Amino acid sequence: MIEYWGKLVPDEEAQEVGGRYLFELENGKTILGATRANTARYANHSCDPNSEVRVVGNRVFLFSLRRISAGEEITYDYGKEYFNALIKPFGCRCAKCEKRRNRKAS
Ligand SMILES: [Zn+2]
Repeated sequence: MIEYWGKLVPDEEAQEVGGRYLFELENGKTILGATRANTARYANHSCDPNSEVRVVGNRVFLFSLRRISAGEEITYDYGKEYFNALIKPFGCRCAKCEKRRNRKAS
């Protein structure tokens, strides 16, 4: 499907760069995804995602889990660590959580 594309750097270097478009691999390297060429960076987090991340060596790909219609937003689960640090404090805005919130409100 699409590749999470960017420069591969050691974790320490990625910490200095910072920002939200970092994809940490388990081998101590991080992909700097902030480049515009990385279309995968536009994929948002969802608790009910339509794609999933697969790591193949030093490369990261987004694979669709179901048929995604044209114009539909591509989403994947960012993972617990990212979620707890950067999403939970503000409230998740994915479709599934919005629905749950609306149900609670009414
Ligand atoms: Zn959510």
